[in-house]
Amino acid sequence: MDDIKRASLLKELYIYKSLGYEYFKDITVLMKNTEQFLNLPDDWEELKRMVLNCRLCQLSKTRKNVVFGEGDIHAKVMFIGEGPGATEDETGRPFVGRAGQLLTKIIENVLELKREQVYIANIVKCRPPNNRVPLPQEVRMCKPFLLKQIELISPKIIVALGSTSYRHLTGDNKTPISKIRGEILDFNGIKLIPTFHPSFLLRNPSAKKDVYQDMLKVKAML
Ligand code: SF4
Repeated sequence: MDDIKRASLLKELYIYKSLGYEYFKDITVLMKNTEQFLNLPDDWEELKRMVLNCRLCQLSKTRKNVVFGEGDIHAKVMFIGEGPGATEDETGRPFVGRAGQLLTKIIENVLELKREQVYIANIVKCRPPNNRVPLPQEVRMCKPFLLKQIELISPKIIVALGSTSYRHLTGDNKTPISKIRGEILDFNGIKLIPTFHPSFLLRNPSAKKDVYQDMLKVKAML
């Protein structure tokens, strides 16, 4: 069974569990339905409810809040970071710590948009302990939710913030973010532009000029 089927089967088991089932004698019956379960709901609120109750990976054990994402669900531009940090975990909102404040400034000052006019999400929706990079198996479990959000929002442009976001969105594990940033790539018909993560900018303010250039490209494509 591949990872997607395993994740789908797990999701299905959680649904049955929520309905009161405790065990199954014949798991093959469920396995036949896993393809169907890959179809996450098209209804935004239903998807949100599902995600807020998700316990598909170990991050659910240490999180305080699931950070679903926020913004305009008809946004033209979607920012995707790595995962929630401490402030995000406390509040259930993405990018609200120091890095988030910087991202907000970039959105307002360079794109000349309000934060509420874009959509902001992360590769994983629960905080990895001590802000470590999300593990591949955690991303595998969580990514279908993000992909469904992208499908429903259908943005014109995705900005991948940092190498983790870039890597997991494109599958390119080799190219450093410093080499690929600012390139305009294709993500299933949506323009994808990788740039540095705002946390990196807080540690390396000299890279702000690069992000400024990348955001000018985003602005020109809006
Ligand atoms: S990180 Fe994603 S898959 Fe893991 S528990 Fe949170 S919502 Fe579920």
